[in-house]
Order: sequence, then structure tokens, then C-alpha cells
Amino acid sequence: LEEIPSDAEISNGASYRPIEDIARDLGLEADEIERLGSTKAKVTHDAVQRHTAESRDGKLILVTAMTPTRAGEGKTVTTVGLGQALGELGEDGLVAVRQPSLGPIFGIKGGAAGGGYSQVIPMDDINVHFTGDIHAITVAHNLIAAMVDNHLHQDQEPRIDPGEVVWPRALDMNDRALRNVVVGLGGSVNGVPRESEFLITAASELMAVVGMATDIPDLKTRIGRVIVAHDVDGEPVTVDDLGATGAVAAVLRDAIRPNLVQTLEGTPAFIHGGPFANIAHGTNTIVADQVGLSLADYVVTEAGFGADLGAEKFFDIVSRHDLEPDAVVLVVTVRALKHHGEHILETDGDVSDAMTPGDRSLEALEAGFANLDHHLDVLEHVGFDPVVAINRFPDDSEADLEAVRAHCRERGVTAAVSDVYRNGGEGGVELARAARDAADRGAPDFEPLYDLEDSLEAKLETVATEVYGADGVDFTKGARSDLEELAEQGFDDLPVCISKVPSSLSDDPTALGVPTDWTLTVRRLYPSAGPGFVVALTGDVMTMPGLPSEPAAKEIDVKPDGTITGL
Ligand code: ADP
Ligand code: MG
Repeated sequence: LEEIPSDAEISNGASYRPIEDIARDLGLEADEIERLGSTKAKVTHDAVQRHTAESRDGKLILVTAMTPTRAGEGKTVTTVGLGQALGELGEDGLVAVRQPSLGPIFGIKGGAAGGGYSQVIPMDDINVHFTGDIHAITVAHNLIAAMVDNHLHQDQEPRIDPGEVVWPRALDMNDRALRNVVVGLGGSVNGVPRESEFLITAASELMAVVGMATDIPDLKTRIGRVIVAHDVDGEPVTVDDLGATGAVAAVLRDAIRPNLVQTLEGTPAFIHGGPFANIAHGTNTIVADQVGLSLADYVVTEAGFGADLGAEKFFDIVSRHDLEPDAVVLVVTVRALKHHGEHILETDGDVSDAMTPGDRSLEALEAGFANLDHHLDVLEHVGFDPVVAINRFPDDSEADLEAVRAHCRERGVTAAVSDVYRNGGEGGVELARAARDAADRGAPDFEPLYDLEDSLEAKLETVATEVYGADGVDFTKGARSDLEELAEQGFDDLPVCISKVPSSLSDDPTALGVPTDWTLTVRRLYPSAGPGFVVALTGDVMTMPGLPSEPAAKEIDVKPDGTITGL
């Protein structure tokens, strides 16, 4: 097979349609966008208010994945490629994805704007700064932090307990040295000394607020109720209590307007918002989906990690905002199937030395189907006829791809090999037909997994048993008292946002395949009052990643003409 040029080479060599043409195709009038140069635009506030959930007209296709390996199985590539492939079929499609965070770009993962011939462009711009939304969220976040510390310093009412400030500082960088810090050192003129921490901006509660806010009034309501500290009587102190809501909303004014770009094939794409998929809901903004569904016939969007983490949060948190998906595409790879299958073979002791490497590899692939089937069961359980996208990698063998196809046939689920990385939209035509048909049939029986009226315990039990395959949930003592407090504060009617490792269906990162006979342990719960969910922690969450021994930053450079390389 021919070598594929690097993502940056492909993106740098792309030809662009004028952004106003992209907007017009999508159905946005000239005065409904604000052009930012020739390749980017922001949708205006007026247009956002015109194209709301009430004017939904299109079908929503959600792209999710089997339990991924660390490298990622290609949801973004498939989302972008599927959008392009719908164009090949003459359909009016829109891609909606998250904006990449700079931390991972300089760290291990590199850019996150698709890959190969399925990218959103200009990918260098999208990866570095873009339209400044992440910068605005960082500033807004740190404005609240400065207001908290000033409030403490000025000793104002309500009297904040310096040991009970829960609002950290934020930076869009992988910088482990800032995980734990002491602020306010240097004597009383320099504030009140206390321990604090930094988060990466994607983990800021304000990122999730931007993800949920549908207009400026809604943005203000959500900002105002964010809890930043407790006072000396243990009562929550909010951004409203600090008097900071207006200024924070002013900083975020433009960040809540979707950013319009295009794919390599000229398909319209919204790149907007980038919340984490464990302590937050992990998908692009609700407003991008809502505006998109009012304009395009098909909106293709992506949830975070595997279906257990990302799609579940989409169903239980996002879809309640008039965003029920019409179809779900499950991305699988030969690599991930073998990764899970190898583990199953080893733990079952089914490995025979007599096997040839070829036999063994096919056997591992087949054992890995258990993980795929688990995700299909979950998606069927909530009311979908999922479509499997077999994301083809350069060294996948025909025999392996055929084995996956055959398994799906036997199970009675539609599957298509997707070659959008190598061939762009043309490589995804079969997938696009299947996804379009599924979306046209729709999912009339779709329901989120639980009712909001259920208790927080019941909601957690439901997700743990019906999605993760656990026998039940254990609550630590701390979690029990958090539950009581949340109920007292009236947060028990919110959906739950479970933070769990992405590499396993269970809370044990090493348990691959489909773990059985285990119980989910919930260690802590806290309200994420701005976006409107209760976060349940099942282990340590890394909210400020570090750089690896060979950071991707070492490969990034810029040429005299401004072209960025190495992304
Ligand atoms: P996800 O969104 O699921 O995390 P991405 O779509 O970002 O995954 O893909 C993860 C990485 O794998 C990216 O660097 C992407 O370019 C690469 N990739 C995805 N699909 C393919 C493929 N079919 N062939 C080669 N590389 C791929
Ligand atoms: Mg992705």
C-alpha cells in the first residue's frame, strides 16, 4: 500500500472553498456568520437564537466506539469521514466535533482534527489557538479564581473558609508541576496563603458550562450557580455570591458561538467546545448540535472514549436537551479487538504453544468480539440498531476484516469497513448508506437509561449494571456522606456523570474484554452545578496531565512563511 502523507502535509496542501459558500450550503445567511479570515467563521448570536432545538429538522448520528486502546480507535476520523461520505451520496451533512486541547497536542496524542484524508481544516489553526474559545475559558476560569482570593483577602461576606475553596486555577497545558501549588505566599499584602491546584482548561467546569449553554441568559444562569467554596458555616458559595457572573459571562460571550470550518472535501463542520469525557459530558457544545440540526439534514457528532463512558453520557446528559440521536455508529478496529482478545485468551488460559502466530492472532480477534458485543448490547438496550464501522488501518489483513464482518452478519448487525482515513469520503460510502438508513428509520424507542427522579444511588446502579456490566455499586463512607449532602442541597434530581477509566468496562484499568463478577466502587461525589450534573468519582482522575519523556512538542516547528509542521 502507498504511504499516506502526514496529516499536516495533507492539511497544508488542501484547497479551500470560501467559508461563506460553506455557510450558504449549510443554510446560514451572509449576516448569520462573522467571518474570521477566509477559512473560519463564527455563527452570530442572532443566528444561534433563530436556529434552536425547536427548529430541529435534521437527523443526529452519534459516533462512539468499543473500549479503546490508548491510541484511540478513530472516532474523530470516522465522524469526519462519514460527514464527507454523506456528501458523496449527495446528502446535506454537517460534522460537529470538539476543539482539541493544547495539552495533548504537545504531549503524546498529537492533534485531534481527524487524520489522513478525513480531517477538518485548517488543522494547524484548529489545533493551535483556533478562534480563541479555550483562551476565553481559561481567562474566565482564572477571573473567578482571582475574585475568590480577593474575597478572602478583603475578608468579605459570605466569609469563605480558606481551607474550603474548591475552585482551582486553569491552564491549557500539560504541566504536572502545577498539580499542587500554594497561593498567597509573601505576607498579608499578597493574599491569604492556602493550598490549591491547576487544572487543564478542558477539565474546567466552565468548559462544561460552555458545552451546555444555549444562549447568553442561559450562560449567566449556569455561571452564577457554580460552587467555588464553602463558607465558615459550611454553606456553598457561588459565583453569584462573588458578584462575578456578569464579568465571567462577558469574557465567554463569543465562546458560546459555534465555529464553522470545512472538511478536506468541503463538508461544513462545527468545531466547538472540548469538555473532558469523565468528569464532564465529553462532546462538542449542545448549541452546535442544535444549530446544526436546524440547518443540515444529517449531523454527525462524536462522544468521548468508548460507548460505556461517552455514549452513555450523551444519552443520559446531552440527549435530554432535545438531542436524541437517530442512529449510533460504533467504531471498532482489528487492533482493539485483538488487544481485548489477547487478554481474554491469557486470563482464560486458552493459549496453546502449538498455535501458529496467525492462528493465535485470529483467535485473539475472535475472543475480542465479546467486548464489541457488550457495547452492541448496551446500544440495543437503549433502543438503537447500531451500525458497526470497522475502521481500517494500513496493516489490517483482509482475513481479519472479513472475520469482523462475518461476526456482525451472524449477530444480525449492519457493519461496513470504513476506509475514510486512506480514501476520504469515497472510502466511507457503504458506511454512510448504512448510517443514513439507520438515521432515517430513527430510534423511536430510544430512552435514556434512567429517570431524573430516580435517586442518585439508583442512577449509579443502573449505569453500573446495565452499561458497565457490574454486579452492583459499593459506596465508600465518604461517598455515602456526599450522597446525603447532595440530597440535602437538592442536587439529587440531576443526571450523574461517572468518572471511570476508559481502558476497561470496569473501574480496573487492567481488566480488558468484558469483566464479570465485579462491583463498581464510588469514592466521592460532587455537584457540577453549572453544567447541571453530579460527578461520581470511581478512582483518581487526572485533571492536569503531564508531558511524556518525548513530548510531541519536540517535533513541532514553524516555517518562515508561517506553516506549522509536526502536528
Ligand atoms: P478517537 O477520536 O477515537 O480518539 P482519532 O480519530 O482521533 O480517535 O484517531 C486516533 C489516532 O489514530 C489519530 O492520530 C488518527 O489519525 C489515527 N487513525 C485513526 N484511524 C486511522 C486509520 N484508519 N489509519 C491510520 N491511522 C488512523
Ligand atoms: Mg476523538
